Amino acid sequence: MPIATVNPANGETLKTYQAMGEEEIERRLQLAEATFRTYRTTSFEERARLVHRAAALLDEDRQSIARVMTTEMGKPVKQARAEAAKCAKAMRWYADHAAELLADEEPDASDVKDSGASRVLVRYRPLGPVLAVMPWNFPLWQVVRFAAPTLMAGNVGLLKHASNVPQTALYLEDLFHRAGFTEGCFQTLLVGSAAVDEILRDERVKAATLTGSEPAGRAVASTAGEMIKKTVLELGGSDPFVVMPSADLDRAAEVAVTARVQNTGQSCIAAKRFIVHADVHDAFAERFTAGMRALRTGDPMDEETDVGPLSSEQGRADLEELVDDAVRAGAGVLCGGERPDGPGWYYPPTVLTGITREMRVHREEAFGPVATLYRAADLDEAVLIANDSLFGLSSNVWTRDEAEVDRFVRDLEAGSVFVNGMTASHPAFPFGGVKRSGYGRELSGHGIREFCNITTVWHG
Ligand code: NAP
Repeated sequence: MPIATVNPANGETLKTYQAMGEEEIERRLQLAEATFRTYRTTSFEERARLVHRAAALLDEDRQSIARVMTTEMGKPVKQARAEAAKCAKAMRWYADHAAELLADEEPDASDVKDSGASRVLVRYRPLGPVLAVMPWNFPLWQVVRFAAPTLMAGNVGLLKHASNVPQTALYLEDLFHRAGFTEGCFQTLLVGSAAVDEILRDERVKAATLTGSEPAGRAVASTAGEMIKKTVLELGGSDPFVVMPSADLDRAAEVAVTARVQNTGQSCIAAKRFIVHADVHDAFAERFTAGMRALRTGDPMDEETDVGPLSSEQGRADLEELVDDAVRAGAGVLCGGERPDGPGWYYPPTVLTGITREMRVHREEAFGPVATLYRAADLDEAVLIANDSLFGLSSNVWTRDEAEVDRFVRDLEAGSVFVNGMTASHPAFPFGGVKRSGYGRELSGHGIREFCNITTVWHG
């Protein structure tokens, strides 16, 4: 894939970039290693000052960087602005909390005595340069949720961003430099995916985090495994959204629409499979479909737009194939299902019913505004359908019955359970999945500790 900005709203190639060659990559790896040697000794106060400065600059740039993101990957511009604001908030959260999250820990006094020590402490030390392989769908957020904790922990970052968001990738490097970080603290490597393997094998790179598809995760994890390097993988999702009879149906249907079409449906934590108790299935389907029909699809630069184009022609073709496969196998189409004529990679909000296990859309991730509806006879069947997926990122359940909440929290195979709300990330809460959705956690104290050398210091 060429490294280029191609506007998804009209297919126009606006800017292409030459991938960095071996020499430039070598220069940047050397710089990362050399920078780490001194940066690791900086205080939390100094790092926090720089991260706060980056947050302030990002706030100032919000309008302009939002337009860059929208131009590169097509998200509605109002959502792009919200993404930039969320990034600044996460930066501030880590700047304010890292010292406390990584403070030395003292084990229980009786255990210290039992070990024969006079004193024991556990210290979180940085690891070194960490490689981040990132996707285009939240081109700022995915990077910042890695960069803020990484820099606060005393590591340095190397970003290999998706090939269709080079301007956003270069903006991020520039942002951290302008904030006062020395050049080697955060560098963008403008390279295609084929270059990742060699970079990851380099001994100067100590760990890697990847957010993206399952094949990309598998490739990075196998190389890292061979090299004995720690990885965090945030992969795909096909999150269930379960609605039980006691739910506030109007609210559930309204939130379901947003949960499905946020970021034009191209979100790993978008609700994708809507599993509704038989008693309220038809009433929910009617409200939900009406909400999906009412969305405004169109120019992502327009402030009124809810759903923009998909990020690439291939992305739309993949989504269309999933829908066509389901329809051929007998699925009903409550709305959408036909690509519009004209320029841009648009696909309408679509609701499918009558989903069976054989359909690809049941097993694979629908990365666009396509919802699948299931009818469940009872809670047991709802849990069975929800767990009948290779993915396990997040889950959403709607019920006012506490006993049902307990059952869902006990039984759903997912990294989070959102009750009477839609999944959203917050800097203070751990984020990540199980099964093929990956492993490890980002955000919160769990996220910042992933790339630390957890060091036991024992005094005789
Ligand atoms: P992708 O094709 O896997 O790309 C993600 C990143 O991986 C890009 O930088 C890409 O580079 C790189 N890459 C691709 N193949 C690679 C390989 N074999 N070795 C090393 N790097 C490789 O994914 P995408 O289509 O851009 O993003 C959508 C996927 O990301 C969805 O499955 C979505 O659910 C997932 N996602 C997960 C989360 C989460 O937090 N769990 C968040 C957002 C998205 P190039 O662009 O150069 O190919």
